[in-house]
Amino acid sequence: MTSPVKVLALFAHPDDAEFLCAGTMVHLASRGAEIHIATMTAGDCGSTTLSPAKITRLRQREAARAAKLIEATYTCLGEKDLLVLYEARTIKKVLELVRRVNPELVLTHSPVDYMVDHEITSRLCQSACFGAMAPNFRTGVRQPARAAQRVPHLYYAQPFGGRDILGKEIRPSLFVDIADTLTAKEEMLACHASQQAWLRAQQEIVRPNHRMRQMAERAGELSGFRWAEGFRQHLGQGFPQDNLLGSLLGSLVRQIET
Ligand SMILES: [Zn+2]
Repeated sequence: MTSPVKVLALFAHPDDAEFLCAGTMVHLASRGAEIHIATMTAGDCGSTTLSPAKITRLRQREAARAAKLIEATYTCLGEKDLLVLYEARTIKKVLELVRRVNPELVLTHSPVDYMVDHEITSRLCQSACFGAMAPNFRTGVRQPARAAQRVPHLYYAQPFGGRDILGKEIRPSLFVDIADTLTAKEEMLACHASQQAWLRAQQEIVRPNHRMRQMAERAGELSGFRWAEGFRQHLGQGFPQDNLLGSLLGSLVRQIET
């Protein structure tokens, strides 16, 4: 029996993974993949009424509940909102996570995004995927995971809203048809109930679900699917060049030259 494909979805805050790639994760989970969702922070700034400690506990519970819907694990790396930094400490933390999960496939934020926490998470992920194989890189934890045997396939999700900070559209090169998983994606997103109020207060997003559907519709327009999630694959030196997501999901994946 072959072992299940391991997938790590590492994003900055609770609900980012659900917003940006839950439809794809549901497809992968239903094909037997082992999914691990991790966030850099617990979203401690995501409330106008609750203290950091209270909103942290609440959002971790929400994230764990969402992960459970697809039998995924959930890990919070304990950083703070707006303070996700690219430094030795966080590189070690993310690299240890990559070694521990030992994924074939990694999903993370777009390197260009509307929020710096997201961009830094993307960079941390890139370095961790690249460096996890190097046995001389020590993460300093008491019982470190062993060095990885391969560099995982790395895919960048779309920035929230599909645009960079200058308003330019970021066009994905690869699309996953999520028509059959849109409802499950919405159920995962609905677990993050505390964020509905926050998005209303801070970003004037009255219906977060509507915003998610707009993104799925736009990705659909670009790909010829009705609803889709868009990605770009990291194809830099040292990373696998074949499209693992395409191999795993077959006709649900469409690649488009950009
Ligand atoms: Zn976020």
